[in-house]
Amino acid sequence: MVDLLSADFAPPTFQLKSIHFTMARQFFVGGNFKMNGTKDSVTKIIEGLNSADLPSNVQVVIAPPAPYLGLAVEVNKQSTVAISAQNVYDKASGAYTGEISANQVLDLGATWTLTGHSERRTLIKESDEFIAEKTKFAIEQGLSVILCIGETLEERKAGITLDVCARQLDAVSKIISDWSKIVVAYEPVWAIGTGLAATPEDAQETHKGIRAHLAKTIGEQSETVQILYGGSVNGKNAPEFKDKVDVDGFLVGGASLKPEFVDIIRSRL
Ligand code: PEP
Repeated sequence: MVDLLSADFAPPTFQLKSIHFTMARQFFVGGNFKMNGTKDSVTKIIEGLNSADLPSNVQVVIAPPAPYLGLAVEVNKQSTVAISAQNVYDKASGAYTGEISANQVLDLGATWTLTGHSERRTLIKESDEFIAEKTKFAIEQGLSVILCIGETLEERKAGITLDVCARQLDAVSKIISDWSKIVVAYEPVWAIGTGLAATPEDAQETHKGIRAHLAKTIGEQSETVQILYGGSVNGKNAPEFKDKVDVDGFLVGGASLKPEFVDIIRSRL
């Protein structure tokens, strides 16, 4: 028996050499309506979300077309659902016909925007630098941003997926040091709207590579930045990504217009 009062007794000491805390990142689901919908259908989709049993710990952001942002803000009654633009310009106002102002988005009550969606990178030919400028300006005005990145099929076949993602991210980290208002959406272009989602394993590997790259460029913030997967996510395949530690949620296109969007939001339950 150990005599605790004896002079010979020395209590054990523990040296904590290094403690690594893993930050829990909130599960995040974005819905990109793209250029779809009418007053009536956007209202119906949001009313569907209003009446759904949404988990209180899932952050949901929906991006209807710009003309319906004000309507979406008015109809939305869920405190965990926020409204996002799909694009903004890098100036507040002025002679920029047809562009969308971050300040006007905020004025309507929306609080997010997407930047760098592949449809804008490829169809509208937006450059990495322009997307970075828009991201910076949106954040300076008070919006949070879902920054979309991802490689084309040719780039994937050439084995340069991570180089492409790194290049797209570097344009942003060059001019933005605080990433607390940025969520990254990794959306391989070949998976968007094709029904051909990346496998959960492939997505995890790329997300891990993206986080490792961010660790080099933005340091410890890389642990808290949410990285979403996007590309043909639906109610059926969403639960398959459940145990992928670097997949913090989804950016959903087509399925965000359907009732199965609720299943995606509930996929981690
Ligand atoms: C998107 O548009 O961001 C997207 C991921 O589309 P889908 O889910 O339809 O592939």
